[in-house]
Amino acid sequence: MSIVTRFPPSPTGFMHVGNARTALFNWLYAKNKGGKFLIRIEDTDRERYSDEAVQIILDSLAWLELDYDNEPESQFANKQRHIDVAHELLAAGKAYKCYCTPEELQQMRDEAKAEGRAVAYDRHWRDKEDSDAPEGVDPVIRIKAPLDGHTIVHDEVQGDVKVDNKQLDDMIILRSDGTPTYMLAVVVDDHDMNVSHVIRGDDHLNNTFRQNMIYDAMGWDKPVYAHTPLIHGPDGAKFSKRHGAVGIGEFKKLGYLPEAMRNYLLKLGWAHGDEEIIPTERAIELFDLNGINKAAAKFDYAKLENLNAHYINAADDARLVELLKPFLSVELNELTEARLKAGMASIKERAKTLVQLAEESLIYISDNIEYSEKAQKQLTPDSKVIMVTMIEAFLAMSDFTHDKIEEACRAIATDKAEGKLGKIMMPLRAALTGTDKSPALFEAAEVLGVEETVKRIQAAVDFIEKDA
Ligand code: GLU
Repeated sequence: MSIVTRFPPSPTGFMHVGNARTALFNWLYAKNKGGKFLIRIEDTDRERYSDEAVQIILDSLAWLELDYDNEPESQFANKQRHIDVAHELLAAGKAYKCYCTPEELQQMRDEAKAEGRAVAYDRHWRDKEDSDAPEGVDPVIRIKAPLDGHTIVHDEVQGDVKVDNKQLDDMIILRSDGTPTYMLAVVVDDHDMNVSHVIRGDDHLNNTFRQNMIYDAMGWDKPVYAHTPLIHGPDGAKFSKRHGAVGIGEFKKLGYLPEAMRNYLLKLGWAHGDEEIIPTERAIELFDLNGINKAAAKFDYAKLENLNAHYINAADDARLVELLKPFLSVELNELTEARLKAGMASIKERAKTLVQLAEESLIYISDNIEYSEKAQKQLTPDSKVIMVTMIEAFLAMSDFTHDKIEEACRAIATDKAEGKLGKIMMPLRAALTGTDKSPALFEAAEVLGVEETVKRIQAAVDFIEKDA
């Protein structure tokens, strides 16, 4: 069997992480099997449709680096084909026209509700002749549901799920205005796209029984199903905006890397032993439907952050510089970009997001150091003496490297601070970064170069003098 998976989002204006995980699973499965991964935009709701909403989906997939085969398909564009199938079922006696009025249907619903029946429509038109049709009424087309027995859906995640056919209604496949229903459109499109595996949220499991009626009526092979439990919020409730970020675009803005997002979403609903770090290459190798968890997962922002820290640390420095650009408040020039690249190794170890990395990178890119309150505490007349000595020592150095800078600082500590290196480092840190935090300081000084380092120490000395 050639493997074809699909991701059929509705263009709602954002991509929920739950949808992103569904896309990822389908993508991984196709990659693992050397199959195809197709996109279909479920754009039949023309009132809500917008090009921008479609673009958001494609941008989210692009950011997640989930590539697909073929051009994305439009469900709306397949409308005529859906209509033709409805008429084919009608002609084959597998579907029928129903002329019930809205009032009649409401009455049936009320009665069914009062009697606790699942199926409201009483199949009034199922066995009627065309000649019984009222004039001037546009009918809907309904499929003939099986009247007895039961239906089993073999699901790769949920196992065999059985439903009593009495629960199945003669659902509408074509509305009275001639538009196909969602159930019909999905089945026809999946069939026509040769979809072999449907991996989707288990909120669609009930639809599967209904969709299977169409497969059976058309005599089409059904796909393999895998219905994945949904993602819940940290508190166990439906995962929504009130929990924090839920859209892929939001996670991008918060400074997550796509590979971290993929790893997190994979782990959120799929397991391979207790491996936590599963880079995409390995995920492609390992992914199978057996590993999909049967229970709903809770979204854990802290876990995502830890994974992100791992992937930031593992990322190539030049790539990080590129990724950082939208997060920086100042534009890079040739000098600061080179500095940032050179200093990246020492700052990326501590950042959990690109937003944090942007803060850490200020040491390399800002022209104007502003001293935080804590930094100002280090800028005292005592430290001024140390810093003046430092300037002299640094200017006298022929090699301004990490090791030599450390050596010089240790010598000054011995000379002026009873050997306490901290006494030297704290004012140096304040001078170079304006804060009481910094990456490996000797490395930072080396990356800044002697000229810039001395300039910053001199500025700190001036600040102390001005204050005195
Ligand atoms: N458009 C549906 C959704 O966004 C997907 C339906 C399906 O996977 O069959 O939930």
